[in-house]
Amino acid sequence: MKIIIVGAGIAGLSTYLHLRKHLSSLHTITIYESHRPRSKLSSSTAQTTHNLDALSASTAIVGGGLAVSPNGMRVLRDLDPELHAAVVAQGFPVEDFVFKGANGWTLGRSKAGDGSVRGEGEQEEMCVASSRHGLWEAIMKSVGKNVVKYRRVMSIERSERGATVKLLDEDGHEEVDEADLLIGADGVKSVVRTALFGEEKKFAPKYTGLSGVGGFLDTPIPPSITNPPSMVFEFGGNGFFGYTPGSPPSAHRLMWWSTFETSQLPDTKSIDPVAVKAALLKRHKDWKDPILQDIINKADVESIYPTWVLDELPHWGEKSIVLLGDAAHALDPTTGQGASQALEDSQTLALLLKKVLGEENESNTVGGEADKIDLAIKLFYDIRAPRVRDIMERGKKLSSRKTNVGVFAEYFMYCFMWLMMKSPTFTKAIFGDINKKLYAWSALEEINRALEKRADTA
Ligand SMILES: Cc1cc2nc3c(=O)[nH]c(=O)nc-3n(C[C@H](O)[C@H](O)[C@H](O)COP(=O)(O)OP(=O)(O)OC[C@H]3O[C@@H](n4cnc5c(N)ncnc54)[C@H](O)[C@@H]3O)c2cc1C
Repeated sequence: MKIIIVGAGIAGLSTYLHLRKHLSSLHTITIYESHRPRSKLSSSTAQTTHNLDALSASTAIVGGGLAVSPNGMRVLRDLDPELHAAVVAQGFPVEDFVFKGANGWTLGRSKAGDGSVRGEGEQEEMCVASSRHGLWEAIMKSVGKNVVKYRRVMSIERSERGATVKLLDEDGHEEVDEADLLIGADGVKSVVRTALFGEEKKFAPKYTGLSGVGGFLDTPIPPSITNPPSMVFEFGGNGFFGYTPGSPPSAHRLMWWSTFETSQLPDTKSIDPVAVKAALLKRHKDWKDPILQDIINKADVESIYPTWVLDELPHWGEKSIVLLGDAAHALDPTTGQGASQALEDSQTLALLLKKVLGEENESNTVGGEADKIDLAIKLFYDIRAPRVRDIMERGKKLSSRKTNVGVFAEYFMYCFMWLMMKSPTFTKAIFGDINKKLYAWSALEEINRALEKRADTA
C-alpha cells in the first residue's frame, strides 16, 4: 500500500512513526510539507513571524510554546520510550499548575501529572512544557532524514487507486502523486478538508475572538516556579497571562503567553510589533505579579496568533482519505490538548489499520484493501469524535474566562476558581472527573470495544 501524509506537524510526524511501528515495512509512506521549519527560535524573531504568509497554527512556522499533557506523553512513551525521554529532556516537566488572579491572589494549585488515575506501581506521566520547535525537533529526529518532502499540496482528487495529489515544489514546478491512503494532517487550514467538504463556511475554521501573543525571555528562572516545577496561569478582567520554563531551568528561558479579546482579526500585513508590545504593557499594567511585570517589561513579542476553532465535522473522511489533528478538530488552545489529541489520533489510526488490515491476525478481516481502509476510517471517527467533542465542550467553558469582564464578574471568577481548587467535589459536579476522563483514555481499549461491538452486531 502507498500512503501519503500531508503535513509534517506533530500530527503528521507522529502518524508516520506510529504507522512505521504498527504496519509492515513493505508499505511506502511519504510526507509532503509546505514549509521548511524555522531553524531555531531566537528572541528576535518578531519580524520573521509577522512576514509569514498566513497567521497559522502550524507547528513548523509558529513559534511559542505548548504543553504536552500526561495523556499525550503516555502516547509518546507507548510509541518509543527513547522519544519520550528526548521530549522530557528538552522540555520542562511540570508538577503543579498554579492559578492566580490579576489582583495578586493565589487561587489554588493542582497536580499536573496523571498520578491520581494511575494504579499502584504504574508509571506517572507528567505534563511537559516545551517550545513548539523543541517538541517538533525531537519527533522529527525520530522520523529521520529524507522522509519529509518539501512540496505544497495544491489539490486532491479521488482516483481509481484512491487519491491523486497535485504538488508544487520549492522551485514552482508542478508534480502529481497517487496513494491508496491519503492522510490529511495539514492543520487548521487544511486543503485535504476542503477536498472532502468543499468551501462551505460551516466546514471552515472560525476565529474565536481571542488572540494571543507570546515568546521567550532569557532570564534566570525564579525559584517559585522551579520548586516545585510549576506552570502559572493568571486570570484578570481583561485577559489571561501564563508562564513557565519551556526547557530545563539551566537554560534560563522563561516561556510566556498572553491571551486577550479582540473582535479584529490580527492581520499579518498590518501588525506593528511596537504597537503590540505597547498594548501588552497597557493590558497588564495593573496586574500585581512581579514576575509577570518583569516579563512584559523585558520580553519581545515573538508570536501573534488568532485562535481558530472548527465546528464538529460530520465525519473525518471516507474511502481512501482521512483527516486527523487540527485538520479534523482544531481545539481551543485553552484546552491545552491540541498536540495531545493529535498524538492520540495518530496512535488510534495506526492501531486500527493494523487490526483491520489483518496485519496482526490474518483471520481477523475479510474484504479487499480499499474496503478495509474505509472501515478503519469509519471506526476511527466513531472512536475519536466523542472524545474530542468532550474536550471541545470543556474548552468552550474555560475560554469564557479569558474574555473581557467587569469588576464584579472578575471577582466572581476568582471566587469560583478558588472554590474549584478548594473543593474537588464542587469541580466534579460542574465538569465531571476531568482527570479521569482525560488521562485514563486508552486507544487500544477503545478499539477492542468498537471491534467487539461490530462483531456483535454483524
Ligand atoms: C496559540 C496556541 C497555543 C497552543 N497551546 C497548546 C498547548 O499548550 N498544548 C497543546 O497540546 N496544544 C496547543 N496548541 C495546539 C497545537 O499546537 C496543535 O493542536 C498541534 O500543533 C496540531 O498539530 P497538527 O500537526 O495537527 O497541525 P499543524 O501543527 O498546524 O501542522 C500542519 C502542518 O501541515 C503543513 N501544511 C499545511 N497545508 C499544507 C499543504 N497544502 N501542503 C503541505 N503541507 C501543508 C503545515 O505547514 C504544518 O507543518 C496550541 C495552539 C495554538 C495556536
